[in-house]
Amino acid sequence: MTPATSETDAPATLGERSADLVARLRTTFRTGRTRPARWRTHQLRQLRSLLTDHAEDFAAALHADLGKSSAEAYRTEIDFTVREIDHTLEHLDEWLRPEPAPVPEFLGRADAWTVYDPLGVVLVIAPWNYPLQLLLAPVVGALAAGNCVVLKPSELAPATSDAVAEYLPDYLDTEAVAVVEGAIPETTALLEQRFDHIFYTGNGTVGRIVMSAAAKHLTPVTLELGGKSPAFVDRGTDLETVASRLAAGKFLNAGQTCVAPDYVLTDPETARGLEAALGKAVEALYGSDPAESPQYGRIVNQRHFDRLSALLDSGRPAVGGEHDRASKYIAPTVLAGVKPDAPVMREEIFGPILPIVEVDGVDAAIDFINDRDKPLALYAFTDSAAVRERLVAETSSGGVGLGVALAHLTVSDLPFGGVGESGMGSYHGRYSLETFSHRKAVLDKPLD
Ligand code: NAD
Repeated sequence: MTPATSETDAPATLGERSADLVARLRTTFRTGRTRPARWRTHQLRQLRSLLTDHAEDFAAALHADLGKSSAEAYRTEIDFTVREIDHTLEHLDEWLRPEPAPVPEFLGRADAWTVYDPLGVVLVIAPWNYPLQLLLAPVVGALAAGNCVVLKPSELAPATSDAVAEYLPDYLDTEAVAVVEGAIPETTALLEQRFDHIFYTGNGTVGRIVMSAAAKHLTPVTLELGGKSPAFVDRGTDLETVASRLAAGKFLNAGQTCVAPDYVLTDPETARGLEAALGKAVEALYGSDPAESPQYGRIVNQRHFDRLSALLDSGRPAVGGEHDRASKYIAPTVLAGVKPDAPVMREEIFGPILPIVEVDGVDAAIDFINDRDKPLALYAFTDSAAVRERLVAETSSGGVGLGVALAHLTVSDLPFGGVGESGMGSYHGRYSLETFSHRKAVLDKPLD
């Protein structure tokens, strides 16, 4: 555990240290120091400086943890978070303005409005796949809303976790913000404390643990989970464009992206054309041997490598299939002719394997999707406006990408979050402010 201030008299047990840390931040919150807009904007600017001053250190850490190329580290983690900060700084005054509400006539002369109240001390628990972005983007909202924050990076991305713990205290208010490194024991000890909000990104099993722990204190939670995000490819679409956008979304970060297209649903004839087009798209992205490409990442650890390599038998490898345990390399792989009940279709893949499941057409695709857990994202590639409308209206998912994969989460004014098994709550832009605030109702009726 690395509290952001040095403590010479640190208590002995994890539980005591967690309790002490939360109590310290709560004392800070009670002073009112985090409420003024100028504290919030100063923290956001400092967070921005942390990212830009240490961009190379973070890129190196991300490479060490996930083999991420520098270009990908900047695009999907460092610059992504900087953009989120800039967007928030640009709009925060406007978002924080009290919002008037009309008063019913029977109340006579009175004014009513809502204000965003900070919640207090919040906990942000992050996963390993985008270990910097998914830790700091929620923190942007937590600080913008005027909260004290405990950050818990993922132990499965140790270099990034260490870098954040080392550099962050030099930039942010250490009386209000603390990084706690560690694994399950540290997270468990934190979860025993009373927070005013818990923001968790990761898998549904731990999501349930987080929610049960939060229930003891009636603490609200945001759960950013995953699932199997389908991509429907319609007959008659330009398969070259579809394949290049699907491959770019699927194989980024070696498929370890929560909103990656998990599998493709298409008719048998389109499937044949798509297999070939995906082969070309992979080559355009990573060359003829992706193992040699500096742009292509690696699987986070041996456990996930073993889990993924066991899924490679679930269909006919139309593209890729090569893998090497020592380097945790799995080639960008497309599996053709995959049966709906094949092992690769029974869990979120979270790796560079793209199964193609054949269905008759859009009706069957909609049934297929609705028969399963609600996904974090749904993608559709079709020239038909009617089909696009039907997919949006007749299925449920956290978000929808029409004609493009992943990109919807780069739109700061769109909420990012899941529904059902893919999570609850959302963030990004003003939705982060809403998540980390209480919208307080005020009615003011003059006494005279
Ligand atoms: P992970 O293993 O790094 O776990 C996430 C966090 O949970 C870590 O900080 C870890 O310390 C903590 N944790 C793990 N086990 C715990 C336990 N038993 N008790 C308390 N805390 C515990 O990450 P992961 O869960 O493997 O991440 C991958 C999953 O996250 C995938 O399902 C993916 O789809 C999902 N995900 C969702 C989003 C999103 O924004 N919705 C983003 C990225 C990943």
